[in-house]
Amino acid sequence: MATETTGTGKWTQAGVPHKGWSCVDIEELEEQEHLCEMCEARHVRFVHVMEHPNYNETLRVGCVCAGHMEEDLIGARKREAGFKNDRGRRKRWLSRDWRVSSAGNEFLNTNDGFNVVVYPKGSIWGARVEHRSSGYQRTSKLPYESQDQAKLAAFDAMIGMKHSEPWLRR
Ligand SMILES: [Zn+2]
Repeated sequence: MATETTGTGKWTQAGVPHKGWSCVDIEELEEQEHLCEMCEARHVRFVHVMEHPNYNETLRVGCVCAGHMEEDLIGARKREAGFKNDRGRRKRWLSRDWRVSSAGNEFLNTNDGFNVVVYPKGSIWGARVEHRSSGYQRTSKLPYESQDQAKLAAFDAMIGMKHSEPWLRR
């Protein structure tokens, strides 16, 4: 764990909070190509999206900076490790036993408490993920060309929600 991480970029800028952040999402990119927006020194593939009540923008950062920002390095590493484990689950996602709702849309209720539904929107596809116990929902914003694309996008959104638990901060 390189402590010099906190000596570059926004770590040195006045006006940028250095603690008290929380993670609201985590994403995997195709390549290790995203410049961490906090240290502005490391390129990362797994992006932790961080919010702070006294800072207007979200910052998309790497695991080490996320850990410093929330003062929980172990928590940040566990979140990223759990997220990586779920990538294996993604490979099996499309071959799951999808059911059909009364409205004719394919859906799944997952063991970890999510309801996922995909539906046609004109000539494209959309998706919605709901955390069932809280009712917290996210709906796809991008157009998907196929039902499978919508299902995979829903999976990614679901995993991001699972590891950042946005319903706890409403
Ligand atoms: Zn960083």
